[in-house]
Amino acid sequence: MTRVTAFWDDSFLAHEPPAGEFEAAWTGRLAVEEPHPDRAARVENIRHILRYEFDDHVTWEPAPAATRAQLERVHDPSYVDSFEAFCRDGGGRLTAETGANEHSFEAARHAAGGAIAAVDCAIDTERAGIPYACVRPSGHHAQPAQADGFCFFNNVAVAAEHALVSSAVDSVAVVDWDVHHGNGTQECFYDRDDVLFVSLHNDHWSWDRDAHPQTGDLDESGIGDGDGYNLNVPLPPGTGDEGYTAAFDRVVAPVVGEFDPDLLLVSAGQDPGTVDPLGRNVVTKEGFRTLGDRARTLATAVDAPLALVQEGGYQVSHLPYATLGVLEGAVGVDTGIEDPFAWLDEDADSAHRRLDSVVEHASAWWDV
Ligand SMILES: [Zn+2]
Repeated sequence: MTRVTAFWDDSFLAHEPPAGEFEAAWTGRLAVEEPHPDRAARVENIRHILRYEFDDHVTWEPAPAATRAQLERVHDPSYVDSFEAFCRDGGGRLTAETGANEHSFEAARHAAGGAIAAVDCAIDTERAGIPYACVRPSGHHAQPAQADGFCFFNNVAVAAEHALVSSAVDSVAVVDWDVHHGNGTQECFYDRDDVLFVSLHNDHWSWDRDAHPQTGDLDESGIGDGDGYNLNVPLPPGTGDEGYTAAFDRVVAPVVGEFDPDLLLVSAGQDPGTVDPLGRNVVTKEGFRTLGDRARTLATAVDAPLALVQEGGYQVSHLPYATLGVLEGAVGVDTGIEDPFAWLDEDADSAHRRLDSVVEHASAWWDV
């Protein structure tokens, strides 16, 4: 039976971004401010549900720290230096919503290293199973010289470069289903034809359009050699399970199939989840299960190893179920565990039928 090999380091729990101006748009109207959405509980809960409900299918391995050389294949050396110094000095806020503490540099190094370890595991033909980097902080908003969107090092980009440099892999496809556009990954490979980037994301979600200019439009398709190798799939809010499955079947699978990569990486952000506070795309555990299944099927079809790298997901109780769904799908197991937040499709006809009976009942007393 196919298993998951999950990569983890305790430093992922020590990273803590400062709360505060992230909620600037709401501040003043509400009495109680939200804590920063990137909480350690995100990955803590994922790890717990996998240990509690999926233990027979998961092997845990350490996520080692990425080396300087590995990071600098993607990131400017001066940016790595300045981020390290920033954290050594205690951290703080790097952008309005992205911040670090004294542990963040170490956590980010291990997150990138976890993605590398997942890629090494995927490529190693002696090792069976689906590698999953259960990492935090996330990576797909991080650009070569800029932290962004709770991300510092672009884990999936560092892992892709590692594969291209250190193995027989000559081409990599990165499929990103995080609800936000993978602007950092796009920037890393925008002029390249050896890395295909396909991003499925909400077509208008941005927490602050002034501070965080919207990217991810269809017309951002790559430049130079990279023309056509950057494919954005902007999806409307409420796309849901059926819409994501269709996006995978109608766009991702045929495009990646034609590209025929030597390695398939998934930026697995489960913030399209039903009740995610930073998403609106209402995907249930079952929908994520389908995505995990489709990813495995696609990797098999193109005869490429597959690795999953954790990105976003901010409803700390739904994220573990959503991620369990992804991994169930990826290894072809059904735990039967139901999504406690399962989204019921809007069904106005049923609501009207129910209201008909309520109106009839109430009409004994009231003029409704
Ligand atoms: Zn996201």
